[in-house]
Amino acid sequence: MNKPNIAIMTSGGDVPGLNAAIRAAVRTAAYYQYKIVGIEKGYEGLIDDAFIPLHSGSVSNIINKGGTFLQSSRSERFKDEKYRKVAYQNLKKNNIEHLILIGGDGSMKGAQVLASESGINVIGIPKTIDNDISGTDFSIGFDTATNIAMEAIDRIRDTATSHHRLFFVEVMGRNAGYIALEVGIATGAEGIIIPETHRDLQLLYENIEHKKNWKNSSYIVVVAEGDEIGGAYHLEKTIQQKYPDIYTGVSILGHIQRGGSPSCRDRTLATKLGIAAVEAIQSEKRNVMAGIIHEKIQYTPLEQIANRSLDINENTIKILKILSK
Ligand code: ADP
Repeated sequence: MNKPNIAIMTSGGDVPGLNAAIRAAVRTAAYYQYKIVGIEKGYEGLIDDAFIPLHSGSVSNIINKGGTFLQSSRSERFKDEKYRKVAYQNLKKNNIEHLILIGGDGSMKGAQVLASESGINVIGIPKTIDNDISGTDFSIGFDTATNIAMEAIDRIRDTATSHHRLFFVEVMGRNAGYIALEVGIATGAEGIIIPETHRDLQLLYENIEHKKNWKNSSYIVVVAEGDEIGGAYHLEKTIQQKYPDIYTGVSILGHIQRGGSPSCRDRTLATKLGIAAVEAIQSEKRNVMAGIIHEKIQYTPLEQIANRSLDINENTIKILKILSK
């Protein structure tokens, strides 16, 4: 008996590790004897009928590449029912019964709409450098982004130390502080400013007072882009007013955190989730997202997938206090 056809696409912002997930899904589909096709440019390609055949050879030598060889997009048209109907006709025309969607929480919302309106089974794989998606402990891209930011901050630390300066380094993360907290701990930052706490500026002041007279002291303050106080430039002004004798600088890391070769952890996470997505189809699961919770593959219904923010507890605050003094 012929098995139903699978399509795979990447949607939303690119992250390192997407290619590793596509590769694993394509090869697992071949292993279980499914035919699999790629859809280029996410929901845009779905509307424009940009389907391409894939086989094991199509995904050779991509595991180490950043970005996505299927390309990605944000699609305003897919929010319009008129274009969604075209997308569903294209899925029918190409005999697709299952869609593997690699995306963030926005793309998963689109997937729910697609599944309920078209009857196509959608299996999600979570990707976002921000790590702010529920249903998994880690999303594809987070580990690479934090490693890139860590390396960049280590370099900035050299300048900060040589010139006895305070640097504000702004990292990505949308409205969540996952990247800032992780990177702040890993670089020994004197301040970590994240949206989930409102005591971080006070902790920074205490730290500056504590280190002010140390020889060769430097300060690195990691700022999450979504912090409620404002960005790194705003914070710099605040500190300049309070401590006019301290030389300050600002560095916004921006998109370098999203590109480049994926880390070992992102490659293995993406590979596990790519395999899990096809195995969900094989075991007849419907409209779920594959994630890893407590080191185990777990499937969460798409309708339960949402944006999440970092759970800050007293223990985290304590860690920050201990390490900064
Ligand atoms: P991410 O998946 O990285 O969070 P976005 O939030 O930009 O990225 O979402 C990607 C795309 O998902 C959007 O451009 C849109 O096409 C689609 N999408 C998001 N929410 C919906 C929705 N409620 N209905 C239909 N499509 C949606």
